[in-house]
Amino acid sequence: MTATNVDPNEIAKFEELAERWWDPNSEFRPLHEINPLRLNYIDERVNLPEKKIIDIGCGGGLVSEGMARRGATVTGIDLGEAPLAVARLHAEKEGIDVEYLKIPAEQIAEEREGQYDAVTCLEMLEHVPDPASIIAACARLVKPGGQIFFSTINRNPKAFLFAIVGAEYVLRLLPRGTHEYKKFIRPSELAAWCRDAGLQVRDTTGMTYNPLTEVYRLGRDVDVNYLMYAVKPHA
Ligand code: SAH
Repeated sequence: MTATNVDPNEIAKFEELAERWWDPNSEFRPLHEINPLRLNYIDERVNLPEKKIIDIGCGGGLVSEGMARRGATVTGIDLGEAPLAVARLHAEKEGIDVEYLKIPAEQIAEEREGQYDAVTCLEMLEHVPDPASIIAACARLVKPGGQIFFSTINRNPKAFLFAIVGAEYVLRLLPRGTHEYKKFIRPSELAAWCRDAGLQVRDTTGMTYNPLTEVYRLGRDVDVNYLMYAVKPHA
C-alpha cells in the first residue's frame, strides 16, 4: 500500500486521541453531538436499511457504526491504525458488523469501483493534502445513481473565529491544532470538485453550534460547518 494523498501529522493527531473516541465527554464530544444530525440527514436521503455504504476517513467509527445500526452494510476506511482498532473493538462489543480497512480511498476506488449505493466522507476532507482526489475516488466508488455525502468547514473570517478561535481556544471543545485554516474548503470549491468528478450537487446544509444552549442544529447557515449531498448521474 502506498498512500501519497495523506499528511502523516494529521493521522498522528487522531492516533494519539483514539482511545477516547467513544467517550462522549472527550475531545470527540462535538462529533458525538452532531452524529444524530448527520445520520438523520443521510438516512432521510439514502434510506439506510439494506444499502451498501462506504465511509471514507471513518476514524473510530461513529458514522460507520451508526449507519450499520440503522441496517446498512458498511465498510469504513481510514489510514490511522489506532482509530481503526478502536472502531473494530467497539463494533464487536456492540455486536454490530462493520468491515474496517486501512487502505487509501484512491486504492479502494480502483478495487471496488461502482460497488456502493452511497459514500460518506465526513469531517475528513479538511485533513488531506488533495481533497479533489478523494472526491474523485468517492465518485468512482458509487454505482450510477449513487449518493455521496461530504461534510467539512468553510473558509472565511467567521469560520476562523468559530472553528478555530472559538472551538480550540475559547470553548476548548477541540484540542489546539485540530484544524488548519488554510485547509478549510468553501462550498463553491467543494461543489466545483464534485462537478469535476462528474457528480451533481443536490443540497448544501449548514451545521451550527450555539455556545449558549450548547445545541447543534442543521439549517441554512453554511458559514462554518456544512454538509454537501451529491449524486452520480446514470450514464
Ligand atoms: N469521519 C469520522 C472521523 C472524522 S476525524 C467522523 O466524522 O466521525 C478525521 C479522520 O480522517 C481521522 O480518523 C483521520 O485518521 C482520517 N484521515 C485523515 N487523513 C486521511 C487520509 N488521507 N485518508 C484516510 N483517512 C484520513
